[in-house]
Amino acid sequence: MQNILELKNIGYSYHSLHGETKALENISFEVCEGEFVAIVGPSGCGKSTLLSIIAGLLNPEQGTILFNNPDGSLNYPKIGYMLQRDHLFEWRSVYRNVTLGLELHHMLTPERLAVVDRLLVEYGLDGFRDKRPDELSGGMKQRAALIRTLALEPQLLLLDEPFSALDYQTRLMVSADICRLIRAAGKTMIIITHDLSEAISLADKIIILSGRPAVVKTEMPIKLTLKDDSPLAARNAPEFQLLFNRLWEDLTHENEAEQP
Ligand code: ADP
Ligand code: MG
Repeated sequence: MQNILELKNIGYSYHSLHGETKALENISFEVCEGEFVAIVGPSGCGKSTLLSIIAGLLNPEQGTILFNNPDGSLNYPKIGYMLQRDHLFEWRSVYRNVTLGLELHHMLTPERLAVVDRLLVEYGLDGFRDKRPDELSGGMKQRAALIRTLALEPQLLLLDEPFSALDYQTRLMVSADICRLIRAAGKTMIIITHDLSEAISLADKIIILSGRPAVVKTEMPIKLTLKDDSPLAARNAPEFQLLFNRLWEDLTHENEAEQP
């Protein structure tokens, strides 16, 4: 499979009056087209910073990012960003929320709106277009947020702990659901999560970051025998517990190293 993204020796520090906070050091990894990559690491280690750099919101101080688009061009790909909260606006209907991205980008064309219509039907939200976000369940809100993101037809989806505002059971269902939809749409995804089981059940590859400044500690390919089923079924794969234990060990060593 072709690499669509290559990070080479990325480094980044925040500078303030109180001095320098080194967030990332020497981060290198690759992402293939259609791949799901999960990034895990101790809280505050630099995960969101890394995602902002990939999104082009921050410029790396060291290193390079290479994009290799499916059409062979090296331009910045179109990126969809989903955050912890769904960020739907209460004063807009569901329909006016899912078309907000298009509106902001002056892309309210019949073709794009047809994509939105198709996704609303496919994701079971067609009957809710005139409702307010408050009238939707947590899972439906995340689906609406996903439609808003996909309407812009991004090539790469970046998700920063997108399910952490949901309670545990909802989260299991919604994360499996959203990731199934993203796979079906054939997108490439980088997801930050602090839930190790979620990472193992969703990702093709897990990047484990160390405590700050984050370096890539381990890159763990995930091949589960039950992968082709749903992410929920993947949790029953015989290798699941073994992978969980390895990840847990890597991460707890990190957290111990962080103590003064
Ligand atoms: P994570 O997402 O892994 O929790 P972040 O990437 O948000 O971590 O932050 C990494 C480190 O950089 C943290 O110590 C945080 O306090 C610091 N940091 C994040 N944003 C800023 C900023 N805008 N200015 C200064 N320091 C920041
Ligand atoms: Mg973060």
